[in-house]
Amino acid sequence: MNLLEKLDAAAAARKAMLPEGVGAFGIPIEEVYSATEARIGERRVILLGTNNYLGLTFAPECIQAAHDALDAEGTGTTGSRMANGSYYGHRALEREFAEFYGYCAGIVFTTGYQANLGTISGLVSRGDTVLIDSDSHASIYDGCILSGAEIIRFKHNDMIDMEKRLRRLGNRTENTLIIVEGIYSMLGDQAPLAEIVDLKNKYNCTLLLDEAHSIGVLGETGQGLVEKTGLQNEVDFITGTFSKSLCSIGGFCVSNHPQLDQLRYLSHPYIFTASPSPATIASTRAALVLLREGKALRRQLWKNCTQLYDHLKKAGYTLGPEPGPVIAAILDNPKQALQIWQSLLENNIYVNLILPPAAPDGKSLVRCSVNAAHSTEQISYVGETFAKLHRQILDADA
Ligand code: PMP
Repeated sequence: MNLLEKLDAAAAARKAMLPEGVGAFGIPIEEVYSATEARIGERRVILLGTNNYLGLTFAPECIQAAHDALDAEGTGTTGSRMANGSYYGHRALEREFAEFYGYCAGIVFTTGYQANLGTISGLVSRGDTVLIDSDSHASIYDGCILSGAEIIRFKHNDMIDMEKRLRRLGNRTENTLIIVEGIYSMLGDQAPLAEIVDLKNKYNCTLLLDEAHSIGVLGETGQGLVEKTGLQNEVDFITGTFSKSLCSIGGFCVSNHPQLDQLRYLSHPYIFTASPSPATIASTRAALVLLREGKALRRQLWKNCTQLYDHLKKAGYTLGPEPGPVIAAILDNPKQALQIWQSLLENNIYVNLILPPAAPDGKSLVRCSVNAAHSTEQISYVGETFAKLHRQILDADA
């Protein structure tokens, strides 16, 4: 099979999974009305498939800051951080992130994906080992592949399996980087961080925590799982993204190890790409202030998460083990998942559809992302619609 024939085969496999005319992936949002509503085709829909956890996409402070930066500094930096693309704002944001976590060092990357790629490939290389959770995000897998280190996976959140693999490494644990996530993007569950830290200390490894989905969501000031568990002094490196609770685009790594700064000279995903635009940095700085002060937003977010989780559970759906901003209905049958996703859209609710192999264990997911700006009425309507579809689609097929 030549290269183009391979692409044709991939297209045919996708077509076999999705009926003609169903655009479940990359569906265009024609107009955005607010943090919770938009137009898709001719429908005004509730947005329940975005990562806008604190609902800050239209925060006036962020919009104003972005406008001011556009006027003052133009549309883009047109270069990499290593060359012409390090502006005052990039450095200021790095200091603000480090200070937020009480650490000494911070680096800003152009995306959250690149933050993982750049941090992992800067920290480990051939001859080292990465020990990662099997549900890790693609940016973690890709960072590991780029690094050349040996990749070992342990079963999702399974500490017995994790220790078994650490034991097998013998004296190589000192050169082992453990990577886990604060909240996992597929099922919305949290890493057992205290147990992971115990193992990291017992086996003398280094620990990287990706707080992409948990920054803004967990902890008193929104640092993430590290703050919820009070383990700031135990985690070596924290990565995260600006594209979820912070409502822009970009990524960061912070650490209390001053050696983090060396990644600027080692990390290709930092060196060989253009830096985030001044408007992006300015709105992220404004959002970080709102996030830190966002206790009321977090309270509202969690109220919404619990309301929807309880509603879906009561309706009979199989869900991840705990409520959170990511709530996934787990289905064995991809056709049923597609049917539910499509019916939700017909009922003016937009969620994410995740089909194998993207979802863990060969399952299909209808994944909701809850945010602080959703009203109680919106959450109730979504819950009732899910319950109706369970009766119509799942109970009917049983
Ligand atoms: N880490 C995790 C756990 C993620 O879920 C994502 C994005 N979904 C990223 C990193 C990458 O972030 P970004 O999309 O901002 O590049």
